[in-house]
Amino acid sequence: MDPEVLAVMLPYFSAEYGNASSIHSFGQGTRAAVERARIAVAALIGAQPAEITFTSGGTESDNLAIFGIAGGESAVRRHIITTQIEHSAALNPCQALAKRGIDVTFLPVNRAGVVDPAAVKNALRPETVLITIMHANNEIGTLQPLEEIGRIAKEADIWFHADAVQSAGKVPLDVNALGVDLLSISAHKIYGPKGVGALYVRSGTPMEPLLFGGSHERDRRPGTENVPGIAGLGRAAELAREKLSEDSARVSRLRDKFEQGVLAAVSGAKVNGAEAARVPNTSNIMFPDISSESLLIALDMKGLACSSGSACSSGAVKPSHVLTAIGLEPADARSSLRFSLGRHTTEADVDLVLAMIPQEVARLRAISPENKKPVAVK
Ligand code: PLP
Repeated sequence: MDPEVLAVMLPYFSAEYGNASSIHSFGQGTRAAVERARIAVAALIGAQPAEITFTSGGTESDNLAIFGIAGGESAVRRHIITTQIEHSAALNPCQALAKRGIDVTFLPVNRAGVVDPAAVKNALRPETVLITIMHANNEIGTLQPLEEIGRIAKEADIWFHADAVQSAGKVPLDVNALGVDLLSISAHKIYGPKGVGALYVRSGTPMEPLLFGGSHERDRRPGTENVPGIAGLGRAAELAREKLSEDSARVSRLRDKFEQGVLAAVSGAKVNGAEAARVPNTSNIMFPDISSESLLIALDMKGLACSSGSACSSGAVKPSHVLTAIGLEPADARSSLRFSLGRHTTEADVDLVLAMIPQEVARLRAISPENKKPVAVK
């Protein structure tokens, strides 16, 4: 978390304890903080503050959008279009609705990890109610052509939701340019706290709530507001907006240096999704003849945290659904690791990791029982 975010949050755990939905002055002080945050989140994505609903994070925002549009009693149209590479926070709500009898089309992506807008258009049916497609993929970072899909959705008069959890703060976002009606973000992906996020809902979109209770968040999301978290998300959104171009230029340069260094030092290594436009911070690399779990553990022991799939499915042995969807053989998917760089990554960090990876790969290749024909490490 950015220290500036923490500083903004701290008073709301102690001195500023009022309930933001209370009428008394203690409540009005914290209400002001919530509304300031709403303005900041709206500004990050080109929305109006009234179109922002605070949630407990990206998972809830995705669920609220998908169930709120397609799962409600009032949803008469019963078909959803999505892709095979969505985060489980969107994929699993779609699968849950499929079990309830709603048809879901899970569109494939190409080898670069990008869905074809023409395929979205071809999948449209008179009963299509929602298109839900992520902006940046969490495993390989590839960006989807949302503007084109937004135009298709608008022409067909179908609600369009985008999970922008991985793209917010990494690339410029404008809900009107993208043509989305709903958009999910999460604070902890933009140096804010965990457990808080937001859903943009275009004014006039008939979304039903997921939870029932009080009338908080304009009847969209009941429950006493998480004021420290919301204030933190607001500050994180302000910082993301201020630092976007500087962060993205610096991080993409470091990511390119990292990838070039790994490719030069490790024979057979390949960057997954490199052919497509990507967010600057994500790098997913395949290391043939190595199990990603072994490399992950070896690197963890040296102090480097990386991921062998999406974080939410770590521990599951099945290969990543994203990597198999881009056409990787299961063995290659099981040999791939995701590295994430960020605002606080330095050139020295990259140099350190570039020294570490070839060594660990060579060591693991040498001892791998599956590795009958060891591949040389340059
Ligand atoms: N969507 C995407 C693309 C993500 O990467 C994540 C988290 O990794 C989520 C949704 C879930 O967000 P949260 O962890 O805030 O629930």
